[in-house]
Amino acid sequence: MEKTEEKAGTVKCELHLHTKGSSPCARVEAEEIARLYSEAGYGAIAVTNHYMKYLFDSYYPPLSDLKKAEMYLGLYRELKEKCRPYGIKVFLGMELNPECMNTEVVPAAEFLCYGLTEEFLLRHPRLFDLSQRRLFELFEENGILMYQSHPFRSYCVQADPKLMHGVEVRNGHPKQENNNEEALRFAEEHCLLQIAGSDFHEGAITAGIYIPEDVADGARLVKYLRSGNPPLIVEK
Ligand SMILES: [Zn+2]
Ligand SMILES: [Zn+2]
Repeated sequence: MEKTEEKAGTVKCELHLHTKGSSPCARVEAEEIARLYSEAGYGAIAVTNHYMKYLFDSYYPPLSDLKKAEMYLGLYRELKEKCRPYGIKVFLGMELNPECMNTEVVPAAEFLCYGLTEEFLLRHPRLFDLSQRRLFELFEENGILMYQSHPFRSYCVQADPKLMHGVEVRNGHPKQENNNEEALRFAEEHCLLQIAGSDFHEGAITAGIYIPEDVADGARLVKYLRSGNPPLIVEK
């Protein structure tokens, strides 16, 4: 991978990443993630592990919902700790799959969420039970943004554009048919915010955004993302 020149006053930020232990599809340990992103010149990562009923029911150990949410947060804390020595900031994010939006495909529609806090998740451990409308309302009340991930991936359905803040217009998963050009058109047509991310599962860093250096936590990331479309990074 080629190192991209860092712009003055900005850092490279990953917005779509999965850590090992959160789902069977995520294959890279937190420690290795920290090393890889440091090498690629990144200064920030929003960790967006899958949050879905299927994983709660079939992947997590048989514990209470609250304990499962705690486990989910534990993976975020672990990445944060492993990234600290490299000076990489880690924000709590989520890739949420509302159960009611699945067709015969799980997951048919997913949302990348930013601005979550640990307290919020522990108050709402079953977010996947809510409708898109209810999620949008709840997120608006709590300063959280939701962007549909890869809405034109071969097996996905498009969610209601009025009940989301934005769209992932560039998903860098190397093994999926994402149809990113259609995602961009969809975002433009509905005046939705735009972001990009690698959809990191197995080691490929492929896309991200630039954020100002002083974006230090999830709330400030939300403020920055709300202010307009960030410069997107497409790694060579
Ligand atoms: Zn995955
Ligand atoms: Zn993903």
